Amino acid sequence: MKLEQLPLEYQKAIPVLQKLEHAGYEAYFVGGSVRDILLHQEIHDVDIATSAFPQEIKALFPRTIDVGIEHGTVLVLEEEQYEITTFRTESTYQDFRRPDKVEFVRSLEEDLKRRDFTINAFALKEDGKIIDLFDGLADLHNHVLRAVGNPHERFHEDALRMMRGLRFVSQLGFELELETVEAIKENHALLGKISVERINIEFVKMLLGKNRRAGLQAFVETECYIYCPNLSEQGEALLRMADLPEVPLKTESQAWALLLNQLGLAGSAVRPFLKSWKCSNQMIKEVQALVQGLTLRQQGPLLPMSLYQLGETAAVQVEELMVYFEKTPELTKVKKDYQELPIKSLRELAIDGKILLATMERKPGQWVSEALQSAEEAVINQVVKNEREALLTYVKEQLSN
Ligand code: ATP
Ligand code: MG
Repeated sequence: MKLEQLPLEYQKAIPVLQKLEHAGYEAYFVGGSVRDILLHQEIHDVDIATSAFPQEIKALFPRTIDVGIEHGTVLVLEEEQYEITTFRTESTYQDFRRPDKVEFVRSLEEDLKRRDFTINAFALKEDGKIIDLFDGLADLHNHVLRAVGNPHERFHEDALRMMRGLRFVSQLGFELELETVEAIKENHALLGKISVERINIEFVKMLLGKNRRAGLQAFVETECYIYCPNLSEQGEALLRMADLPEVPLKTESQAWALLLNQLGLAGSAVRPFLKSWKCSNQMIKEVQALVQGLTLRQQGPLLPMSLYQLGETAAVQVEELMVYFEKTPELTKVKKDYQELPIKSLRELAIDGKILLATMERKPGQWVSEALQSAEEAVINQVVKNEREALLTYVKEQLSN
């Protein structure tokens, strides 16, 4: 590989590799970004692996942070930040999960052997030379996902690798090599031992991938879905989702909302489902809004009050989801409709609780918030202008009824 072909992020990191090499260690670019460069795709992180042990890395660079020193990872702060990880093996595995012990080694080969798929096991030297010990270049060329070494053993060591394989099917449009897919089919139940948090990350990446159809189909065909939270009975629904138009989903919340829609879950069923997947409360809130918006939108264009309650971002996301229901999203119209709302939040209402208490000659009570709510709705629906006097007259009328 020619040096000029390396992305800027890599070029900038070359002095870091050189520094390690001048001190007598080996150092390489490794991991998903090497794969992505070879695929001419954008990279998102620069991972560096070295024969230097963590203390030796720290002795070489003036500014470092121990981000995962027990796993051999040191964050080096230069012009940019780099995660530098000592070559390691993950020899002893417990319960089909992450290794319970990592061992630092001086050999690149040992480090590459522990990686999941051949296309993730390249090392790239700072002079542009690619180290390819497992014929990953051929697999990359043929669009094949092949486990490094014996797939059974590899999935026994860490069952998450099966989910990673499925998400790469979706992200890259590659096919799982025969022995690899057979090993997933035989070992799928081991996923039950993996923490939901780790499965969640791979599952979401799978849903967001460009080749969602192939990813979901493989997820069902290998029966991995049976060992995922609340999906064991949902094979058919997942295949229905695979058949939706293959337009990439933009956000994680849209992915969950579309999934829930396909599973026929809405309202109070949303929260327990997402909780079982260990989604954050923030994510749950966003998805609940999208699911509700989607239900309303499927009955017709969103009314002003729904637009107001959803907010612009969620309303646009709901509209984008219409592409999966054979409707052309009318994003410009939704944005315009939203912009034309007389107010965007209660704070913009021309009256507030204080004003009501000062003018209505009533004791404080429940009526205040009720009056504000009905005034808010009247303004949104353009029944009353958002002006103080008009609103006070409106509230007085409401109160006397
Ligand atoms: P992404 O582009 O999403 O970051 P990635 O392949 O870089 O994909 P990471 O989770 O960032 O995935 O992992 C970096 C590298 O570490 C992988 O390319 C792979 O070589 C190795 N790796 C990660 N997880 C595992 C695992 N569970 N088993 C074996 N190797 C792994
Ligand atoms: Mg990565």
